[in-house]
Parts: sequence; C-alpha cells; structure tokens
Amino acid sequence: MSRIEFNRVNKRYGPNLPLTIKDATLTVNDGEFCVFVGPSGCGKSTLLRCVAGLEDITSGDLSIAGTRVNDLPPAKRGVAMVFQSYALYPHMTVAQNMAFGLQVMGADKAAIAAKVKAAADILQLTPLMDRLPKMLSGGQRQRVAIGRAIVKEPKVFLFDEPLSNLDAALRVQTRLEIAKLHHDLGSASMIYVTHDQVEAMTLADKIVLLHTGQLIDERGSVAQVGSP
Ligand code: ADP
Ligand code: ADP
Repeated sequence: MSRIEFNRVNKRYGPNLPLTIKDATLTVNDGEFCVFVGPSGCGKSTLLRCVAGLEDITSGDLSIAGTRVNDLPPAKRGVAMVFQSYALYPHMTVAQNMAFGLQVMGADKAAIAAKVKAAADILQLTPLMDRLPKMLSGGQRQRVAIGRAIVKEPKVFLFDEPLSNLDAALRVQTRLEIAKLHHDLGSASMIYVTHDQVEAMTLADKIVLLHTGQLIDERGSVAQVGSP
C-alpha cells in the first residue's frame, strides 16, 4: 500500500499571499510513477514538499497509504525525497552517506549493512563505497542521493528535478536508472517533478499538468497510450 491521495488541497505561504496550490485533487495509485509537469513557478515543488511534510497544507486533506498525514512529521510519513542538488555529506564516504539516516534512526548495524549493500547493488555503487563525494561524478553523486532514499525503504519516493544539475549524457543515463529503480521496487509509488516533457513522457505512468497552482490535465504517458 503506497497510494497518495490529495483531496481539495490548498496551499498559501502567507496570509497576504495568493494561493500557490488551488484545490488540488489527485490520486497516485500503488506503484504508480506520476510526473508533475509545468513551467517554473507553477507550484510543482510546493506540492511535492507538502507530500514530504516539509510544508504544511493550508486546507484540504492529504493521505498516504490510507493514513491522513496532514499533521504527521516528515519522518513518520514513509516518504523519501531526492533533490536537485544532491547535498551529500562531504566528509563521509559513499557507504557512510547511505548509512547515516538509518544510524540516526537507531537501526542495528547488521540491518544497516544489509540495506546499504542491497541499495548499492541496485545502483551499481558497490565499487565506490569507500570514496568521498568529491571523488565522484555528478551522476554518481545523484545515485548516492537516491541510495540514501532507498535504504529507508519508503512507501513513496519523491523526486524534485533530480536530473537538472547533470549534463545531457548523464541525464539520459540517470533517467534510465530511475526507470529501472521504479521497476525493481514495484510497490513503491513515485512522484517526479520536472519541467522537461521528454523526461515526463519517458518515465511516467501518469502525467499531471500544472498551471499556476492548478491541476489542469491528467493523462497516461505516450508509452502507455501508444502512438496513433
Ligand atoms: P515550481 O516547483 O513549479 O517551480 P514552486 O513550488 O517552487 O514552483 O513555487 C510556486 C510559487 O510559490 C512561486 O510563485 C514561488 O515564488 C512561491 N513560493 C515558493 N516557496 C515559497 C515560500 N517559501 N514563500 C513564499 N512563496 C513561495
Ligand atoms: P563507519 O565507520 O561509520 O561504520 P563505514 O564506512 O565502515 O562507516 O560503514 C558505514 C555503513 O555502510 C556500515 O553500516 C557498513 O556496514 C556499510 N558499508 C561499509 N562499506 C560497505 C561496502 N563496501 N559495501 C556495502 N556496505 C558497506
């Protein structure tokens, strides 16, 4: 169970500001890869941050796996987020970066080692485990950031423009890795934010178009619908 439900969600950043998200109603089904597309400033990140619990919603309801999460702190929501800038700890190795979140949560050593190893296998990071971030390429760093998300075994993965700091070749490669990840972790739901329509069409089971804070359309991807 990893369904995400938005029911008439509104978000206002301050009392004198206009609504950033207006009356958003949407379901992301179990295991679905949903992409939010729209121009810069339309509210994609805001919507994602509301799911993560990094922002409160102003009204409406948000639920994950059947539980209303409006008032739940981020750590209790079963979500993991991957950002555009990878924000790895520079003084920690790849393995330490991936293990850190679990160590903070007090997981036991053997469990941490097993989860870090499994994530490293999925992302082909095993040969790089002892390196510091400065000794990695941009694409490798983004894989470590994704690895930090995987080890938490979240129900929901949230990606906020994860490819935008990569050069063109790495963007394609990392996009394929994210598609594989979705396939390998069949039951996790994903929301992926981008302004790039090619990314949206190649990754999505469902594409949601946003325009100035409103959901204006919802459709299957080209891959699903097939060409005319
Ligand atoms: P997108 O991800 O689509 O580029 P954002 O969700 O980042 O859009 O921003 C949507 C709107 O909300 C923009 O007008 C932005 O200026 C505004 N906004 C974002 N964060 C804040 C904030 N912390 N305080 C006030 N306004 C904000
Ligand atoms: P620390 O000194 O903080 O224990 P380590 O680098 O030894 O840091 O390991 C951090 C975590 O990553 C540990 O839980 C360890 O089990 C795991 N780990 C370390 N190296 C590897 C590796 N090569 N492959 C998979 N997991 C590893």
